[in-house]
Amino acid sequence: MRKAWLSPVPEKCQLCRYKIIDEFYDVNTFGMGWAIVCNACFHIEGFKLGVGFGQHYKLDKKEKTFLRVR
Ligand SMILES: [Zn+2]
Repeated sequence: MRKAWLSPVPEKCQLCRYKIIDEFYDVNTFGMGWAIVCNACFHIEGFKLGVGFGQHYKLDKKEKTFLRVR
């Protein structure tokens, strides 16, 4: 089952302020709560995916919504 992002679409990465275009990660920062981060920050900070860690969302151009890919 594909899960759509139901909250307002984030405009910027909450760490570096880079504009969110077609993908983002919703991650547990273990210190600052949950944050929306860009692809670069996800890898630089070494965030993880999975239950309690984070999810990866990508823009589905046909449905014009972000869908969870992992
Ligand atoms: Zn970022």
